[in-house]
Amino acid sequence: MGTERRRGEPGGRPPGVLQSSTVDDRRRAAALAHVDDAIVIVEPSGSIGYANPTARSLLEQVAADGGRIGDSHIDRLIAQATLGDDEIVEELLIRSPDARPARARAIPLPDGAVVLILTDLSPTHQLDRIRRDFVANVSHELKTPVATIRALAETAATAFNSDDVETARSFIDRLGAEASRMSDLITDLLDLSRVETGVEFAPAVFDVQMLVTDAVDAARPLASAKKIDFRVEAPAIVVEADPSQLAMAVKNLVDNAVRYSEEGTVDVTAHAQDGALTISVRDEGIGIPEDERGRIFERFYRVDKARSRATGGTGLGLAIVRHVAENHAGRVEVDSELGAGSTFTIVLPLSRDGANGES
Ligand code: ADP
Repeated sequence: MGTERRRGEPGGRPPGVLQSSTVDDRRRAAALAHVDDAIVIVEPSGSIGYANPTARSLLEQVAADGGRIGDSHIDRLIAQATLGDDEIVEELLIRSPDARPARARAIPLPDGAVVLILTDLSPTHQLDRIRRDFVANVSHELKTPVATIRALAETAATAFNSDDVETARSFIDRLGAEASRMSDLITDLLDLSRVETGVEFAPAVFDVQMLVTDAVDAARPLASAKKIDFRVEAPAIVVEADPSQLAMAVKNLVDNAVRYSEEGTVDVTAHAQDGALTISVRDEGIGIPEDERGRIFERFYRVDKARSRATGGTGLGLAIVRHVAENHAGRVEVDSELGAGSTFTIVLPLSRDGANGES
């Protein structure tokens, strides 16, 4: 946790924190009330001149004392900032009951006051942020099909009212397709939440061969419509794992291989070797640009949103696969060549008691 000094602007004043009319003051206070960071203005005397709501709740926990902050780390930082013109940035532990990690910025003002900005770096805070982002993403993803369904229903009704049964029927078909898309999204969301919480992890001893065959069989109709052949090499391998989670992961990889290919062969192989179960799905499809490969396992991340949507994607498949692998103390790897194809490989350690292996 090092200290960093940042050069101040000529004149040293950050955009007028305190110099303002009453209306502007109110607007700024309203804006600052919605900021996740704690913002405090410390007067030259050391007393607190202003604290936004985040700061007030944080300072309560660090025992703001007689209008002063009363945290030795923060007090030292403020004292340091008043000695120069430059902003000081430091990661420190706030002296609260749980010693919370925070990034602190102390910005000296020309009149001797200091603006202190504290960003909470504790895992709970970050989890809250992830949860908020997730809810925002889900709402956004659901808004599109709902708006489309509403528009299609209105158009179908108008067509019916003017006895245009053909048009009405075509809009009703599209309504069905949009409803299926929504249902797929909800299924994937439920699957994701199931594998993310890990609460329902239910290992059992079973043969991987059948699981691979089922995933391939489910994808055959789309594959034959696109002139894609399967080559499957999966001997009987008895493992101890969660069969429904592993089936979900393999199905997602096989579906993707078919959805992101127009033709060629999809190779699905499973083998047990060197204490690990490896399930690999290789396609000859569009491939994935190198700079995108690190992000495709994030929820809702797609390389090409339009293409994902057109092929019925939800943007959640690979996030599910990653969680399933991690739930089994394993990993998922990707290798790809743009325009030539991709290989996704799930590697799971076999259990130490030797119960797993090719039979
Ligand atoms: P989606 O539902 O969009 O397919 P995924 O989480 O399964 O969501 O995959 C994330 C993104 O990774 C996809 O949108 C696609 O851009 C890319 N991707 C996944 N699998 C493949 C593949 N086999 N070939 C090419 N691109 C792929």
